[in-house]
Amino acid sequence: MKKKRVKLTGREKSELFAEAVVTIILLLLLNLSIIILINLAILTNQSLENGIYFLKSTLILGNGLHIWSWQRIFVFFMGCGDMLVLYWRLLRRYHQMQLRHVIQELHYIAEGHFDHRISFVVKTDLQKVIDSINFLVDSTVNAMNEERQIEQSKDDLITNVSHDIRTPLTSIIGYLGLLKADNSLTADQLKYVDIAYNKAGQMKALANDLFDYTTLNSTKTKVNFAPLHLTSMLEQVAAGFELEAEEKNISLNVNTNPDDLVIDADAEKLVRVFNNLISNALKYGHGASFINLSAKKIKANLVEIRVENNGEAIPKAALQKIFERFYRVETSRNTKTGGTGLGLAIVKEVIDLHHGKITCESNERITSFIIHLPFKVALPESKTTVL
Ligand code: ATP
Ligand code: MG
Repeated sequence: MKKKRVKLTGREKSELFAEAVVTIILLLLLNLSIIILINLAILTNQSLENGIYFLKSTLILGNGLHIWSWQRIFVFFMGCGDMLVLYWRLLRRYHQMQLRHVIQELHYIAEGHFDHRISFVVKTDLQKVIDSINFLVDSTVNAMNEERQIEQSKDDLITNVSHDIRTPLTSIIGYLGLLKADNSLTADQLKYVDIAYNKAGQMKALANDLFDYTTLNSTKTKVNFAPLHLTSMLEQVAAGFELEAEEKNISLNVNTNPDDLVIDADAEKLVRVFNNLISNALKYGHGASFINLSAKKIKANLVEIRVENNGEAIPKAALQKIFERFYRVETSRNTKTGGTGLGLAIVKEVIDLHHGKITCESNERITSFIIHLPFKVALPESKTTVL
């Protein structure tokens, strides 16, 4: 890291200059008043004048010289004193400015620029503070990296385990399905097989969710952006839920404006988002009569997609945490709905990968999941070369 001295800005230089001018004026006024006061004192006090005369006549330099005029010497020393005061004040102000620069750098690092270090060299104790800050940032970054690595290896482990568990689970579900269809089983046996079949299904759903979440969360995840016709995609996803919605007497509507909205997106991942949101609306929209999917262009490079349903509202306190992994609203924590609380975490992860935003609003009238996505994603240079 290249060390450099604190470089003052134009404004700070002017501040220093103004400080110097004000100090000089004040010192000159002070000097003048001291001289006037001394002269006045000498003029009005005869014994003081005699005392000074006595001092002048008794003080003799080496070769018998008397210094009769002390005035210039006095002024010279006063001038030296002035210079010292001026230097001290400017130096103090300069140190304040150095501190201000260090604080600015500190804020810059705190804003998340952890690769930045304070590279100033100063000659005061402030240098120790700077060194300590740099050391602290280094150790924090190391700790963060270590934690990230641990997190990554944990995610890798979950990805691998959930992936490997799916294959035997598929066989178990397959064989249990065969057993279920076997007519020779007694009623009790059939009940046990049915329970085992359902539990195995739940396990598979959990394994799938865990696999999806950890793979999406991984830094190695690639997003394959390609033009995607939003209306067709929403209609296709909705079609997949039509039967279930009909059974529950819920009308499922798609409405986009304009209806030829095309965005840059990873279709496979975005489909997962709407699958999760619609299945949630069907599962948790107790007493719902409609689910509306709508999309509209709200800015030149921004589309807003809403997934809305009526029915029971999501409690206010839950709204803050709803996108956290494994979070489920307490009342929905029953075996009937039996989710894992990963659905919305996956949704958020996909939207983040698309440089978008998702929020949720809910009241007695309507529950809305609002997604904002850019039409075109400006990929950073480095990312485009990596992909
Ligand atoms: P998973 O999706 O992993 O199977 P899940 O559905 O319980 O499990 P999320 O999809 O993350 O998990 O949803 C979290 C919680 O948010 C749900 O448990 C549910 O209580 C609540 N929720 C989600 N969508 C709605 C909705 N449309 N209406 C009411 N509550 C909802
Ligand atoms: Mg869900």
